[in-house]
Amino acid sequence: MKKRLIYVCMAIGLVVTGAGSCAQAPKGQQEWAIALHGGAGRANNLTPEREAMYKVHLTEALEVGKAILIDGGDALDAVEAVVRYLEDCPMFNAGHGAVATAEGRHELDAAVMDGRDLKAGAIAGVTDIKNPISTARMVMERTPHVLLIGTGASSFAKENGAEIVPNEYFSTPARMEQIQRIREQREKESPMGTVGCVALDSKGNLAAATSTGGMSGKMWGRVGDVPIIGAGTYANNHTVAISGTGHGELWIRQVVAHQVSALMEYRGLSVQEAANEVIWNKIDKMEGSGGGIICVDKRGEVALVFNTEMMHRAWAKASGEWGVGSEGVELSEKER
Ligand code: ASP
Repeated sequence: MKKRLIYVCMAIGLVVTGAGSCAQAPKGQQEWAIALHGGAGRANNLTPEREAMYKVHLTEALEVGKAILIDGGDALDAVEAVVRYLEDCPMFNAGHGAVATAEGRHELDAAVMDGRDLKAGAIAGVTDIKNPISTARMVMERTPHVLLIGTGASSFAKENGAEIVPNEYFSTPARMEQIQRIREQREKESPMGTVGCVALDSKGNLAAATSTGGMSGKMWGRVGDVPIIGAGTYANNHTVAISGTGHGELWIRQVVAHQVSALMEYRGLSVQEAANEVIWNKIDKMEGSGGGIICVDKRGEVALVFNTEMMHRAWAKASGEWGVGSEGVELSEKER
């Protein structure tokens, strides 16, 4: 549920709980930047203990990506590695810990995009691939297609050596209790916990990756925004890399990620202006539970914007600036 108060997370750590700076990048080193999210939504279950645990995992995931970028590695490798880490962590709605469909099963979606050449790979409605993000990358690199679904995606994953698991692997007690509450109508279906990562590497290449179990209690066969290139995932070296989280149907209808890129390309908006425009002037005006986006542009600027009570997130730049947090800072409409 969206809060009436406006939550804005600007690019710099002022508004992210736990932010700072450490050693500056050596002179002459190309800028790199990275941002990740672990889902957006309500903050009602976010006890201080849980928030602290989220911080630990968000920080560890950030370190995974940073290590690759500091080493001069590719943005694509960094975003895949970060999302794999988050898929394996049961606290997030991707891989192990994914939400369940109304039937109590798990159907996962994932996508990756390479800003160098606009190549993209995605899978949707998969039930047995341990790390969907890596199979999405295989679709991009080893097929002439962009999106594979269901059993076709699974059989492609098997042929290409991906780790296959029983559907129960994705279940956690917390997710199964959640689906029970949704069935008993004690809880509304809501998005929460999708993971994503965007990065700029020292060669100037952008990449984006997103992975999710979708919306809890969704109809079987439902596909969200994550594997729809331009909706929940997009990267273009000329503009920006974006990963979204939230009420996927809104992201599809507004073509959110591509819209941010288009506002930068055609109207010359900064990444922060473009992200604000899409979240506050488009998504926030629609019926639904909202969400957020993380963006890194071609110059390494970071924008993290959400209209929900919270978005788990972390970011870092070659300059040494970084931030990690979940809840937002309340600003009045006027201040925004
Ligand atoms: N966007 C995802 C979906 O609709 C859910 C989420 O971000 O939590 O499938």
